[in-house]
Amino acid sequence: MALDVAGSLDPREVIARILERGIHALQADRATLSSLSDDHVIVEATHGRDGQVTWVGQRYSLDYFAGQPLVKKAIETMQPMIGGGLASEQAAPEFRQAIANVRHVAVIPLVHGGKAIGMLVLSRYEDDPFTNEDLAPLTLLGAISGLALRNARLYEEGEAARKRADETAARLRAAVEAAEDVASQVQLDQVLGRLLERALASVGADGASVARLEGTDMVLESTTSGAAVGTRWPIAPKVLAGVKTGKSVELTAAEYTGAPEGLESIVQPFRRFLVAPLAIGGETIGLLAMGRRKDEPFDPAAVQSLQQLSTLGALLLRNARLIAQAQEAERAKSEFMSIAVHELRAPLTVTGGYLAMALEGGFGELTEPLKGVLQTAQRKTEEAKALADELLTVARLEGRALKPSADRFLVTDVVQEALVRARPRAELSRGTLKADIADDIEVRADRTLVSKILDNLINNALVYSDHPPMVRVTGRRDGDQVAITVVDDGIGISSQDQGRIFGRFARGTDRRVLEKPGTGLGLYLSRGLAEQMGGSLQLASSRPGKGSTFALRLPVGVA
Ligand code: ADP
Repeated sequence: MALDVAGSLDPREVIARILERGIHALQADRATLSSLSDDHVIVEATHGRDGQVTWVGQRYSLDYFAGQPLVKKAIETMQPMIGGGLASEQAAPEFRQAIANVRHVAVIPLVHGGKAIGMLVLSRYEDDPFTNEDLAPLTLLGAISGLALRNARLYEEGEAARKRADETAARLRAAVEAAEDVASQVQLDQVLGRLLERALASVGADGASVARLEGTDMVLESTTSGAAVGTRWPIAPKVLAGVKTGKSVELTAAEYTGAPEGLESIVQPFRRFLVAPLAIGGETIGLLAMGRRKDEPFDPAAVQSLQQLSTLGALLLRNARLIAQAQEAERAKSEFMSIAVHELRAPLTVTGGYLAMALEGGFGELTEPLKGVLQTAQRKTEEAKALADELLTVARLEGRALKPSADRFLVTDVVQEALVRARPRAELSRGTLKADIADDIEVRADRTLVSKILDNLINNALVYSDHPPMVRVTGRRDGDQVAITVVDDGIGISSQDQGRIFGRFARGTDRRVLEKPGTGLGLYLSRGLAEQMGGSLQLASSRPGKGSTFALRLPVGVA
């Protein structure tokens, strides 16, 4: 019997078995099982000898037992009690009839952990009393049943907890996915569009909008229909009150008031609204509103998931705003820079022209001291013009005004041309230039920009050396890229400088670097240009005193 009763973990199954077993083991006509808690009793189920189990599920106050001394005693002593019928006039009306037929009862407390957690009442309709001999099997039945019922309940609670945990996990996973999805969009309008799509799907709404708050008005930033963006709406008083508490607010169509004139048609299709504040750091910066065509309330899970999305939305909205502001500031700055540099460059060109003419004798014979001064002025003018050109490229790069072309050309060609341009400078320092590049590798890039990068790298390799430099340029295919390296045997770069040399206006800290002219823009620009072409520029290796290797990667130019 123990195995049979305890053989299931489904509480209903366990109760049914306890009832059946009780009837048969003790020749009862009816068995009724109730569970007990601190202040109430639930009559779970009852079973007649020849019938089926009837599930009752009725809850009563424990006071109910006051009129049933046998029951009261069984529970208090946690011992089975046997006796004549129950007091039918004291019973709940729905049981009176059944109890009136009963001639003898056995009340068995179902005991677990020193507590009565339930009660089994066996009744006989014939005049055949339960005897003291029945007490031992009744006690056993009570103990086994108590244990089985407890286990089944625990299992059920465990299952429910697991299910709740699963649901929470699924919801969290969905929130994380939504966050990733929405966060992958950098543009403000895309972020908002994505947020709305997600919110629609998780709440089960038909239309949605996101708005920023401006006093007691809101200005629509994005709507799923794309309509009315930029329009200003008064906020319904009920929503305004809710926003202050940071909770979402549900409205019926009747409660929704104040659509601006001419825009009523936007809210007309909706019968229900759910509005969540987008709050961050205690400040409400916007509203996320959902509309549903059916006149059905939003269920609590929907409200909860909107609440989650709105937290995420607020964060993203603020970040996207900050990014948009930063981008705008960057663009304005670049624009200013290119205008300023243009203005500077024009007089430099004129001055350069006059200086060249003067040095060629165009204004008459020059004295030696004057010639020397004019030559210095010409050199400085050229340097200033070079700086202006670099700054102009920086401005175009940062202002995203640079649109590199994607031509296919041989790496060996562009490298050989760069070496030809570098030769005069190499000769000045008695340096050696070498190239080691397969004849047939091609890249897809902007040829002018690649030349600019190579000039920068080769120039640095020749300049930053304290002995006649040896510079080698190699090229090889590397997957879907071509890697071009510029290797030198110069002064190298200290590990502390390695982290900063690609920065804007960043120069090395070595004395031998600082005594050479330079702007600190070369590597910054070169890396930016490489990235604009879908490539990269890295310091592959460098050892102080032993030299450096820079690696430029560009997309391979396969047909
Ligand atoms: P600049 O040469 O005008 O200083 P770059 O951006 O071209 O600006 O280089 C930044 C810094 O990186 C240099 O100041 C120098 O310290 C270091 N550097 C670049 N190339 C080399 C090299 N080949 N060998 C040693 N140091 C280098």
